[in-house]
Amino acid sequence: MAKKQCVEALDKLFEYIDNELPDDELVRIGEHLRDCPPCEAELRINEKIRSLTAECGGGECAPSALRERILDTIRQAREA
Ligand SMILES: [Zn+2]
Repeated sequence: MAKKQCVEALDKLFEYIDNELPDDELVRIGEHLRDCPPCEAELRINEKIRSLTAECGGGECAPSALRERILDTIRQAREA
């Protein structure tokens, strides 16, 4: 089911969120995410995880309770 562009976009999602990609990849992946609802949903989920783990100093201390909350968020987003 996953297309090659999807695999690439998902593979680089965190770099995309962190703005660590070269401009051309940033543009290409950004365009794909806008055109591809499943990938866009994945982006939203990962942005959420990013902001949750950022509160905790880069995810070094993500306790299991927090991880559960993140997984719940993912499940809800998937079902929505
Ligand atoms: Zn996609």
